[in-house]
Amino acid sequence: MNHIYLIALGSNRPTSRDGPPRKVLQAAADVLTDVGLLFHDLSDIIETPPMGPSQRRYANAVAIVETKRDPESLLALFKGVEQIFGARRGQRWGARTLDLDIILWDGGVWDSPMLTIPHAAFRERAFVLGPAGQIAADWRDPITGLSVRHLHARLTRSKPAPRGASAPGCRNSSRNMRNP
Ligand code: AMP
Repeated sequence: MNHIYLIALGSNRPTSRDGPPRKVLQAAADVLTDVGLLFHDLSDIIETPPMGPSQRRYANAVAIVETKRDPESLLALFKGVEQIFGARRGQRWGARTLDLDIILWDGGVWDSPMLTIPHAAFRERAFVLGPAGQIAADWRDPITGLSVRHLHARLTRSKPAPRGASAPGCRNSSRNMRNP
């Protein structure tokens, strides 16, 4: 039986072979196609300024893909592809040639020691929810019951400033956090 997944692709490190992060994502989509994932849709690639100590620009996109693989098998494939691209795990703010995450799948909730679906942080990541709104706006989070469109609106809705805070431009907004 085939499954449908919403996956996220991210990069903040150029490679000599592929070029800047957005080209890395395009190359990753090609590799994932070559190894058997059927891409139903790929969002625009968005580029966002660096957060934290890293000075690198990020490129992010999401895709809807179809595959026979179950979630653990897809995660194993992702780890292999990340290795091909030279991902450096364990550096929270550092250079990431390629980061592949499973955000949602058509099987609802998955919870194992290695893998949590829905992705534990996706509700706080505008760089996931923004692109996801383009291609999967009506997909519902099985935990909250909210659609991707709703989650994105909730995240980006302007919140009332706390008492005494000076207005716009506050740099600590949670929507700016890359790894909450
Ligand atoms: P990170 O390097 O921050 O992307 O974390 C990767 C690790 O998170 C992997 O080794 C996975 O075992 C684990 N993980 C848990 N849930 C997910 C998910 N939904 N998608 C990708 N990795 C996940």
